Amino acid sequence: MSVSDGAPVAPVNVIPLGGVGEFGMNMMLVACGDTAVLIDAGVMFPEPELFGVDLVIPDMTALDAYRGRIAALVLTHGHEDHIGAIAHVIDRVSGPIYGSRFALALVRPKLEERGIDVGDRMVAVTPRQRIAIGPLELEFLRVTHSMPGCYAIAIHTPAGTLLHTGDFKIDQTPLDGESTDLHRFAELGASGVLALFADSTNADRRGFTGSERDVVEGFEEVFCSAPGKIIVAAFSSSVYRLQLVVDLAEQFERRVAFVGRGMQNMSQIAGELGYLRIPPRVQIRDSDVRDFPGQDVVCLCTGSQGEPLAALPRMAIDDHRYVKIHPDDVVVFSARVIPGNEKSVGRVKNHVARRGATVISDGDKRVHVSGHGSEEELKLVISLIRPKYFVPIHGEYRQLARHARMATLVCPDATVLMAEDGDVLRFDADGGRIADRVPAGRVLIDGTRTGEVADEVLRDRRHLAGDGLVVAVVAINSQTGVLEQPPALITRGLAVDAKHEAVLREAPDQLARAIESAPLEERTDPGLLKERVRQELQRMFRKRAGRRPLVLPVVMEV
Ligand SMILES: [Zn+2]
Ligand SMILES: [Zn+2]
Repeated sequence: MSVSDGAPVAPVNVIPLGGVGEFGMNMMLVACGDTAVLIDAGVMFPEPELFGVDLVIPDMTALDAYRGRIAALVLTHGHEDHIGAIAHVIDRVSGPIYGSRFALALVRPKLEERGIDVGDRMVAVTPRQRIAIGPLELEFLRVTHSMPGCYAIAIHTPAGTLLHTGDFKIDQTPLDGESTDLHRFAELGASGVLALFADSTNADRRGFTGSERDVVEGFEEVFCSAPGKIIVAAFSSSVYRLQLVVDLAEQFERRVAFVGRGMQNMSQIAGELGYLRIPPRVQIRDSDVRDFPGQDVVCLCTGSQGEPLAALPRMAIDDHRYVKIHPDDVVVFSARVIPGNEKSVGRVKNHVARRGATVISDGDKRVHVSGHGSEEELKLVISLIRPKYFVPIHGEYRQLARHARMATLVCPDATVLMAEDGDVLRFDADGGRIADRVPAGRVLIDGTRTGEVADEVLRDRRHLAGDGLVVAVVAINSQTGVLEQPPALITRGLAVDAKHEAVLREAPDQLARAIESAPLEERTDPGLLKERVRQELQRMFRKRAGRRPLVLPVVMEV
């Protein structure tokens, strides 16, 4: 509890810079005196209409005021919405990166890819470990979620203890036996917690989320009845799900192939660390799938969100190098659909159905369970912690508001602080309040120009002002997939120079050839076709003219 012997209490500032009022790009600064620590540095995935944008990360301008004082980056766990922006923030952190062994293993290749050397700055922490940083002491508490190595973080400060739950659910029967440390939660609650910052992702779901084990039955039914291949699309980071499928494969004498780069990387990293156990005879390469009878194979693949270039969406339009979908195959969608991706996922299901295969998703059988706690789990944590101040995080405003209502029901004495990104929550001798605001928002990252960032408006202006706009109109016969006329390009603001003229002269023909060589199902699917047109044109302008105009594909179905 806060110091109350009359000594002055150093104020503690907590500033969420992402993830409060939106899903994704989680990031929070905790500062006291000359010391600050950053909790998580995540990305948000761009919505499909943000053409050409690869990543969305929090605006970090506010961190400039803490230059030289950010003594550590602390990771709750290894999901992209918590670690994806590390490369963009690591320069501002002068100390170690603390996280679970698994989270750090997922961070390492990201940084190496960009030539960032942090070798000796990565410090793996174990459950209940405590680390003192200036006036702050961090304590890592195990929580269950959808991947191994997840922590809630207690931050002991001169003003009192703050508890940040990270992402969590309360899985009482976790597959790896590593339960949420509710004992320590209760102890902390008994000794007094100043403020609880809690995951609100599933605040609008009633009851309990359920154990990861709950999907076993649904998968068993699939394994018992599938006449051909079983193709499972899931997030590669859902290591427990991968394990469960591998185990069933062994039990039902099927071989497992990991298909898609994300799955292959994850099976390797998680395998090396011992979080994924694949019996030697069970795994086969993706290129060997066709050599086995369908009923002997399971494919674990990327593309559960309908990402046009991932494994399952390519298979679905019969455009995958190694794996074909046959009529007796069963395709299982074992992931939640991130809001905004419903259409692209729906399209993939249509294509799979067109191949004659059976589509199974969460509505048919329990083949997915969330990693975030529902109402009763959230209430349980609030009642164990009994915080003085309650701050809902990780969610859009409606989830935050619901979570806040639960807190006032469970713990009527708690004061709710409804914060949003950029609010400065100050805790001192006078209690806690939203005391200030700093700049916050989103920054769009354009992956082809490493490190170059600009906010949304600036970026569009830059593209339009510097690199111009290209509208590509493609008229296609929606039955036959044949171009009705050559693609037409309309441009605005392109610099008049020889390179551009050359690209523009050749682009319609090149584009027509690219479209004609695409699989029929891609040509007759306006969503996929748009993506193809956009990519082709971007590539042409980038390669031939060194520019990145904003490309807007328009597909007219005739
Ligand atoms: Zn997570
Ligand atoms: Zn998350």
